[in-house]
Amino acid sequence: MTTDMCEYCNGTVEEKVAQVDFKYKGHIIYVKNVPVGICNKCGERYFDAKVYKKLEEIARKKDKIKNKISFPLANYEELAV
Ligand SMILES: [Zn+2]
Repeated sequence: MTTDMCEYCNGTVEEKVAQVDFKYKGHIIYVKNVPVGICNKCGERYFDAKVYKKLEEIARKKDKIKNKISFPLANYEELAV
């Protein structure tokens, strides 16, 4: 694996396996165990073109996803007073 520089902040992009959220046609899906480069300074994520393609495939098959997580969704307008 090569070590890349972040194109936004010149931080170091580290190869990791992480849970990522992935936006596809207006839906966000969360995928675990994705190989992804993450900038150690600003947190920008870099997907391999191959990985990105796979994520799109996964998103298309999202009806087959068995596990669902729920998370709190705060309403900024309600709470930021
Ligand atoms: Zn960065």
